[in-house]
Amino acid sequence: MDNCIFCKIARGEIPSKKVYEDGEIFAFHDINPQAPVHFMMIPKKHIATLADATIDDAGVLGRMLALSGRLAREQGLPEGYRTIINTGRIGRQEVMHLHLHVLGGPQPLGRMMPRPDA
Ligand code: AMP
Ligand code: ZN
Repeated sequence: MDNCIFCKIARGEIPSKKVYEDGEIFAFHDINPQAPVHFMMIPKKHIATLADATIDDAGVLGRMLALSGRLAREQGLPEGYRTIINTGRIGRQEVMHLHLHVLGGPQPLGRMMPRPDA
């Protein structure tokens, strides 16, 4: 996708703090971290939202999940982390290229769901 910011990051056209890359997956630190460690994993293929994924995408999505632990450990999260995929308007997704947030730090994170008005 020509105008997608995360496609451009995956192609190296926009700079990012890269965490990992292979043929199908790119991972980079969030520009506005919500935890001491906050990076994102994306498929290099443009998939707008999780709701747009099909069974053909199962391989790369499964690989992203299966790789998250290794990358989290490498980024200093040996005791766990939180993964988040925001989807669409209701999920408050802001960048329309599917991304898996990986968040953590030395202390346990806040509760999973704040109140809707928070
Ligand atoms: P979401 O609300 O799930 O769509 O999350 C989008 C995330 O992308 C936010 O956490 C932003 O801080 C992050 N973000 C936006 N632009 C960039 C960028 N150029 N590099 C790194 N992270 C970005
Ligand atoms: Zn894209």
